[in-house]
Amino acid sequence: MHNHSDLPVDERGLLIVRADLRVTTDTEVVPEVWAAGDDASVPDLAAGRPGAHTVPDAQHAVRQGRLLAKNILAALRGRPTEDYVHRSLGVVATLGLGRGIFQHRGLVIKGFPAWLMRRGYHVLAIPSRERKTRVFAVWVTALLYGRDIVSLASVQHPREAFVSRGGLRRGEEPAQPGGRRKA
Ligand SMILES: Cc1cc2nc3c(=O)[nH]c(=O)nc-3n(C[C@H](O)[C@H](O)[C@H](O)COP(=O)(O)OP(=O)(O)OC[C@H]3O[C@@H](n4cnc5c(N)ncnc54)[C@H](O)[C@@H]3O)c2cc1C
Repeated sequence: MHNHSDLPVDERGLLIVRADLRVTTDTEVVPEVWAAGDDASVPDLAAGRPGAHTVPDAQHAVRQGRLLAKNILAALRGRPTEDYVHRSLGVVATLGLGRGIFQHRGLVIKGFPAWLMRRGYHVLAIPSRERKTRVFAVWVTALLYGRDIVSLASVQHPREAFVSRGGLRRGEEPAQPGGRRKA
C-alpha cells in the first residue's frame, strides 16, 4: 500500500484505520477513506489488549467488508458509525482429505468431525446462494468422480479463452497492443 499511495501506513505497510474502519493519521481521520481486510491494520477490540490488531484472515475480511459498507452508508446519511468487534468462534483447519483440527480455547476436536466442520463452515461462509451451490456441487462431483482436472488447461494456456471468445475468425490474429488486427 505504501508504494501506491500517501495514505498513513504502519511499519508493516498496512493502512492505519480506526475501529470503525476509517483510515486515520495519529491525530485525525482522512476524509472519505476507509479500509478493511488484509491491507488494513484494524484494532482488535475483542482481544482486550491495547495495541492488538486483527489477524489477516477471511473471517475478519468478510465481516470487516460488511461493516465497512454499513459504515459508509451511515456516514453518508449522517448517522453514527459502528466499531469493528468480532470474537472468534475458534480456529479450524484441514490436514489433508478427511482429517482436520478445530480449537476454541481449551476445546480441541480432531479427525473427520473437524474436517466436516471446516467444510460445513466454508459452505456457510461463502457469499451468495449461487456461489454456495456451485462450490458444494463441485465437492459432491469430486467425491463421486474424483478431482476435475479439466481446468488445468486454462492454467497452461490462460490466453486461449480470451482469444477463442473474442470473436476472432479462423486464421485471424488477435490485435497487438497499439496495433491493428491482422487477417
Ligand atoms: C493460500 C491461502 C490460504 C488461506 N486460507 C485461509 C483460510 O483457510 N481461512 C481464512 O480465514 N483465511 C485464509 N487465507 C487468508 C484470506 O484469503 C485473506 O485473509 C482474505 O482473502 C483477505 O481478503 P481481502 O478482501 O482483504 O483481500 P483479497 O482476498 O486478497 O482481495 C483483494 C482483491 O483486490 C484485488 N486487487 C489488488 N490490487 C488491485 C488493484 N490495484 N486494483 C483492483 N483490484 C486489486 C485482488 O485481485 C483481489 O481480488 C488464506 C490465504 C492464502 C493466500
